[in-house]
Amino acid sequence: MSLSIDSGLCIGSGQCALTAPAVFETDDDGFGAVRPGKEDGAGDPMVKEAVRACPVRAISFEEG
Ligand code: SF4
Repeated sequence: MSLSIDSGLCIGSGQCALTAPAVFETDDDGFGAVRPGKEDGAGDPMVKEAVRACPVRAISFEEG
């Protein structure tokens, strides 16, 4: 799995960091970010929930 956030879409709602805080964080500007080294999802079952929770669908992941 490879996670990424489209910074052009993110509105900084913070849902990703609330839903899967082990994988997502909020950066200094208030936007969502994937924690360094956690681009593979870190085996966290909440990642898919976080992807669904994003109100603007800014989080994408590729399985594999
Ligand atoms: S849930 Fe989506 S809009 Fe909200 S901070 Fe995360 S990536 Fe950005």
